[in-house]
Parts: sequence; C-alpha cells; structure tokens
Amino acid sequence: MGTTTNHGFNTQAIHAGQEPDPLTGAVIPPIYQTSTFVQDGINVLRNGHEYSRGSNPTRSGFETQLTVLETGHAGFAFASGIAAEDALLRAVLEPGDHIVLGSDGYGGTNRLINRLHGKWGITNTPVDITDLAAVQAAVQPGKTALLWVETPSNPLLGIADVAGWAGIAHAAGALLVVDNTFATPFLQRPLTLGADVVVHSTTKYIGGHSDVLGGAVVVADRAFRGQELAEAVGFQQFAGGAVAGPQDCFLAARGLKTLGLRMERHCSNAAAIADWLQGREEISTVLYPGLETHPGHELAKAQSNGFGGIVSMQFAGGEAAARAFAESTKLFALSVSLGGVESLVCYSAEMTHASVIGTPLAVPRNLVRLSVGIEQVEDLIADLQLGLAAARAASLQRAA
Ligand SMILES: *Cc1c(COP(=O)(O)O)cnc(C)c1O
Repeated sequence: MGTTTNHGFNTQAIHAGQEPDPLTGAVIPPIYQTSTFVQDGINVLRNGHEYSRGSNPTRSGFETQLTVLETGHAGFAFASGIAAEDALLRAVLEPGDHIVLGSDGYGGTNRLINRLHGKWGITNTPVDITDLAAVQAAVQPGKTALLWVETPSNPLLGIADVAGWAGIAHAAGALLVVDNTFATPFLQRPLTLGADVVVHSTTKYIGGHSDVLGGAVVVADRAFRGQELAEAVGFQQFAGGAVAGPQDCFLAARGLKTLGLRMERHCSNAAAIADWLQGREEISTVLYPGLETHPGHELAKAQSNGFGGIVSMQFAGGEAAARAFAESTKLFALSVSLGGVESLVCYSAEMTHASVIGTPLAVPRNLVRLSVGIEQVEDLIADLQLGLAAARAASLQRAA
C-alpha cells in the first residue's frame, strides 16, 4: 500500500489502498465495473481476482483504506450498514447465543437482532451503555458471545467506556463490537481501546455526501471459537454475498479521503450550535458530548479526538414543539440518515426509532436530532431560529 504507519490520518486516508493504476498511471484507481476476471489458465488468477462477489479491486482498495484508518487487521465492505452487521452476526454467532446490547442505538440494529436473528434463537439483553455494572450484570456466563455498543449513541449521545466494555467482554470470553458510525476513525479508534470488531454504516460520514449506501466490518487480528475473525467474516461476505458494488466502493473511498477535513468542520459547527441552543428558552436539554455539562464529557475527551457532528435537543414545549421545529427549518432538511455535508433534522421517535415505539427503548417524544452539516454556521443558526419560532408558536397554541 502507498502509505506507512508513520503517516498521519489524512495522508493515510488519501493514499492507503488508493495507489495510481499500475496499468495506465491513472491517479485515481479505476472503477472496476466487472463481474468476472479472465484466468491465465484454469484457476490461474491475476492478482487473486476471480469473481466480484469474492473480490473486486475497487472494493479491495476501499477495504484497505478503511482498515488502515481503523488500525484493523482486515476489513470487509457490504451493501449497507445493516448488511455488514448481519454478516458479522452470522459469521460469529451460533444458535442460542446471547448478546449484551447497548440500549440506546440504531433502531435498525435492534430490529435486525430481535426480529431476524431472534428466529435463530439469538437472545439479547438491552443495557444502559454508560453503566458498566449493568453491562457486567447482563452477561450470561457461557451463553454471552457478543457485547455490542454504539458510542456516541443514537440519538441520546451517551458515551460508553470502550475499554471498560472490552474488559467485561474478554473476561466473559465474548467479543466486543463497536458501531463507530457516529465517531468515525478520525475521532475514535475502538480497536486501539480493546474492541475486537468495528462496524460502520459507510452511508453516513465515510461516504459523507448522502449519495451512497454501504457498510463495513473491520476486525482485529483475533480468533474466536477457534477461527480467525478475518477468515470468518471474509467467508461470510463471499458465501452470503451481501457485497458492496464497485460504484458504491468508489464513492465511499472518495468520501473517505476528505473525512478528516469534513469531521473538523462538522465538529466545530456542532459545538457552536450546541452552545447557541443551550441559551434558548424553548429548549430544556441540549445533548452534545462536547458540552462540559454532558455526563460523558470527560470520558469522550479521553477516548476520542472530538465530539462529532450530531446534536440532540429536548423541547420545553413537549412533542408539539419538537414536531413544529422539525417541520419548519429550511436548510436543515427533514430526513432520516446523517453524516452528509448538508444539515438534516430528524424527529427520532417516529422516524429512525419507529421500530421501538412502545418499548423501553422508545425515544423521548420531545426530542429532535440534528445532523449538523458543513455549511456556514451563521446560516445554520439563522435556520434554527426559524424552527424555534415555530416551536414557540406550537407551545403557545397548545397552552391557549
Ligand atoms: C445508519 C446506521 C446503521 C445502518 O446502516 P445502513 O447503511 O442504513 O444500513 C447502523 N448503525 C448506525 C449508527 C447508523 O447510523
């Protein structure tokens, strides 16, 4: 690969797995839009490529790029974040296994584990991600195979102690999986904190432009149940087939090159907005790990290089105010998803987390989540003012 471990993050992001094309000198590696590869004799493969479900050079380049940035041993790209998670679960679990699952997390992960893997006898215990004693108490010795956590979490932006979770997992002979979608490897590298596996929705910050779906699994150099993790996940990718296509890998790789620059701006815009929101009477709570008042602030500072681009807030005027806000901003587009250059607003309870309505995992109904983009922050704040005016009007109307 074109980089060394001495290179900094942005150098690796641009060069790892992304060498110029040896055949033509094209600075940007081509999109190898092919299903199959010619063989120089029966089973005599050029550079190891046989069929694009098994491997494709565009995909391999992106997998290397992300693996280097996560300090992993091997990485695997999938058609979506959920496809990546599904492949990981199938690769390492056996029927009857138990998962300790962070309770504040992506609604689709919960749905996948409960509704699809539940059918195969997989059980789980949801736990408060900030309470290591609760995590320990949820472990079922001999039965718990995985601990799974997202940090910062979605949408409450709780911070989990990754090293603490890893200690509990390893003492139980289980693996720790960290969903690093919100933080990205620019802000946090869970494998260096003891996690065994990182999963990503590359749809979000890694792609970064809301124009591609994708997912990835990056594993440490570790064995589980007598099998190398890289081998288990690699076989699942090939045999299960939920791979990312070459166009999608090209877009994800292009996005990943500017991740560092974008994250710096996401973080500074989000910090300015969190600060500004804190002084508003319409808002009862601002949830952002960068605020000194956030319960996970010190931990976030210790285990990551920044606090991310997601800000959640709760409205003093309740559900009506939250809904009015979410439907009134102009630059902040009402939409699920996050991590693109453009700002988005989401009413989590009924959008991203509709699948957990009526359960203990349901999101507060006065909460709105912002994915703060990289626009001019003054314009974003002016736009939030529109939303707050609508929230105020909705509260007054309800009071009248
Ligand atoms: C979006 C998301 C996923 C799922 O990824 P898809 O690409 O939508 O399948 C998983 N985890 C987190 C934290 C996400 O934000």
